Amino acid sequence: MSEDQHIPAPLRLFNSLTRMIEPFAPIEDHHARVYSCGPTVYNYAHIGNLRAYVFTDTLRRTLLWKGLAVTHIINITDVGHLTSDADAGDDKMEAAARASAKSIWDIAAHYTQAFKQNIADLNILSPSEWTVATDYVPQMIEFAEKIAPTHCYEIATGLYFDVSSVPFYMKEADSGEFIAAFNARVSGGDWTKVNEAAEHAHERAQLASRIGAVEGKRRPQDFAIWRKSPPGEQRQMEWDSPWGKGAPGWHLECSVMSQARLGQPFDIHTGGIDHREIHHPNEIAQNQAFHNCCGDPDAAAADFTGARWWMHNNFLVDRQGKMSKSKGGFTTLFSLIDAGVHPIAYRLLCLGAHYRSELEFSADNLAAALTRLKRLVMGVEGLKARAEGVTWQSPRLDYLRANLHPKLVPLLEQFDAAIADDLMTPRALPMLEEAIGIKKVPVDEKLCLIAAFDQALGLNLLTLSRADLRVQPKDAQITPEEIEAELERRTVARAEKDFALSDEIRDALIARGVEVMDGDPLRWDWRLTLG
Ligand code: AMP
Ligand code: ZN
Repeated sequence: MSEDQHIPAPLRLFNSLTRMIEPFAPIEDHHARVYSCGPTVYNYAHIGNLRAYVFTDTLRRTLLWKGLAVTHIINITDVGHLTSDADAGDDKMEAAARASAKSIWDIAAHYTQAFKQNIADLNILSPSEWTVATDYVPQMIEFAEKIAPTHCYEIATGLYFDVSSVPFYMKEADSGEFIAAFNARVSGGDWTKVNEAAEHAHERAQLASRIGAVEGKRRPQDFAIWRKSPPGEQRQMEWDSPWGKGAPGWHLECSVMSQARLGQPFDIHTGGIDHREIHHPNEIAQNQAFHNCCGDPDAAAADFTGARWWMHNNFLVDRQGKMSKSKGGFTTLFSLIDAGVHPIAYRLLCLGAHYRSELEFSADNLAAALTRLKRLVMGVEGLKARAEGVTWQSPRLDYLRANLHPKLVPLLEQFDAAIADDLMTPRALPMLEEAIGIKKVPVDEKLCLIAAFDQALGLNLLTLSRADLRVQPKDAQITPEEIEAELERRTVARAEKDFALSDEIRDALIARGVEVMDGDPLRWDWRLTLG
């Protein structure tokens, strides 16, 4: 432990705008305002989508750990997100409604509810507010009216944002990378060499979705502010506007809702890395247009991007290709639970990787995370059993630091330093494991520190029990009670040296999908081999 480490370590976060890790200070004292792009509710979230919200929750919990109050908004996109992020194709909600013969409103309600269930299962703190896009259409029209005269043009299909009216956008017009161009201005850095991964983002998005460009659009990067309903066609979701009946563009939603709920500028805007090259640059362009600060070299440009920090989680990837919400056949949290996996194991899997690294999903990785979680839960259960009668709580960090057993102080400091270093959860988790295992420290002190750590990690360790981790697979042919009873019978048979009966019982269990694990170091004893 270095001498200069102190509590709290200054919080530093990676900002996609500057591509640097910067010290974080909220605009308002002691209060951070955060907006996270939410789900498009035309289908269930896949586990990749949910990684984005484990990340925002880790961010929120870290801000809380640092003593800040947090206002956190997550939106629900129930209109406007087209099948290509580059603003071509169908509205995802309309397409889902057509495919299922249900109303869009029913679809949105169903998948919103399912998403909220996922959030609860992952122990993600509910946002201060869920903002629903369709509740903000009048504000979106007002916003569009303000920017239309100088930044938009109207064609048969709708009102489009002319990105050439925002000078930074066009600086890297060939590469389609606005953020890099924006960087050149705010950081003075040399961003002419653009990120290869971002090159031709718009073209790639269109190619990937096999959708042609919208006729009449002046440039591929121009995007819809308002999409007119096709003549003679009535959409399920449409509103009157100065540009005719229609629906708002997807990018407009987040500019309007973030500004309406958090003011302008606010602190942090989050989303998955796919949003870094199209959705978020488009939001920034709109915000600059709205605040009339485009092209003003002296304007405090960063203030008009919407947020001071733009943070992006990298992707969860699956070699079997089960991570596309629009293609279907993807892995959901529900399907993991149905297979007998506790959802917090998935949360732990996410925390085991840094949010800016790609994370590969596989059955083995998930099984390893579940084993790690079992160890943690068993460890904490053991401590709780010994601390009977003692109440523990998680006090303020400085109080905790001052009153903690000296052997625990380095763990607290290293944990704090890790999460303050751009949310380095993979470095923080071992501190939790060390706190559980450390010798010659009173149990209640350990529990106090573990409770504090868990406020930042959200693993629910103080309340989860081993029994909770035994999630019954949907297709199981046998209940845990039956298994326990059979194993009890087997123990008696073995004690009586009736090995024939003992083997018979074990074989019968195997035939019903139960693996008997004699001498398992986690005392897990048995597991279902289904799923
Ligand atoms: P959507 O519902 O498609 O609007 O996506 C919800 C969130 O999930 C967005 O922040 C996306 O950037 C993010 N996202 C999409 N796919 C993945 C993935 N495979 N891994 C991590 N985040 C993702
Ligand atoms: Zn958004």
